[in-house]
Amino acid sequence: MHIGFIGLGNMGAPMARNLLKAGHRLSACDLSAAAVAALAEAGASACDSPAAVAHSEAKLIVTMLPAAAHVKAVYLGEGGLLEQVRPGVLLIDSSTIDPLSAREVAAAARAHGNPMLDAPVSGGTAGAAAGSLTFMVGGAAEDFERARPILAAMGKNIVHCGDAGNGQVAKVANNLLLGISMIGAAEAMSLGVALGMDARVLAGVINSSSGRCWSSDTYNPFPGVLDDVPAARGYSGGFRCDLMLKDLGLASEAARQVGQPVILGALAQQLYQTFVGQGHEALDFSAIIRLYNKDNHP
Ligand code: NAD
Repeated sequence: MHIGFIGLGNMGAPMARNLLKAGHRLSACDLSAAAVAALAEAGASACDSPAAVAHSEAKLIVTMLPAAAHVKAVYLGEGGLLEQVRPGVLLIDSSTIDPLSAREVAAAARAHGNPMLDAPVSGGTAGAAAGSLTFMVGGAAEDFERARPILAAMGKNIVHCGDAGNGQVAKVANNLLLGISMIGAAEAMSLGVALGMDARVLAGVINSSSGRCWSSDTYNPFPGVLDDVPAARGYSGGFRCDLMLKDLGLASEAARQVGQPVILGALAQQLYQTFVGQGHEALDFSAIIRLYNKDNHP
């Protein structure tokens, strides 16, 4: 199929490469000419704007942009996608944005005659490169079925979460819990070690007891507990603290919009805000454990 792709950053570029590998034709654009040139070398047609992607023969267009402001600019802005694209072209936004913005853009697309899905991902840059992302998809069931084979070229787990915006709801709820549970694991591990226990033994007890969770058994933040996690390599790689802070901000904002309290989420947001403010934005989010140690180094 001929596919348009807008946003060739850390996630978008490897996702677009997997579409090429699966045999699709691609018309792609990004603000970065270098990112477009790199994908053109891999076989994509280079476009200089979202409008140029809209004017290509693409029957489906994927966007992978930093935040809601960029998504609104690309879809709703002057000369943007909705002004230019042919009715009937399926639009898929895989950026992580707040659910209400996703619903607003989807409603505008529908009014223009374009079906739209929100399809945020989890799995990070490694999952994007390996084609093993999880897609959480919101939108009409028939549009989901149309998109599924395309998403399957970029991901392994493709879940229909309900109507427009519900993909973002699933993503926001999951990452809210992930941020909170990582802080919980960091706090419990730090306390246990400060009280004299060996970190590996403590993790073993937690992971076979009722405190067990992904942040403890698969991604433990305490150095020396697990091999091959960011804690074992100075918190490099993985999921950046500033992206976790962004997602906790989305949860707080979405909660405000519906008058729902997110008490622990707000606290988690403030802890990540503090840590990012100390200059640790590029570290993996499990590095939050450093807040529990006087010298910032467990
Ligand atoms: P990124 O900043 O690396 O890439 C975004 C790209 O969009 C950039 O290359 C930028 O030039 C381009 N862009 C911005 N405005 C544009 C416009 N008007 N027209 C064309 N291109 C434009 O971000 P990323 O890490 O690839 O993340 C993309 C989205 O995926 C974000 O919403 C992020 O929250 C989400 N996400 C990221 C990760 C991760 O680990 N990086 C994991 C899951 C979800």
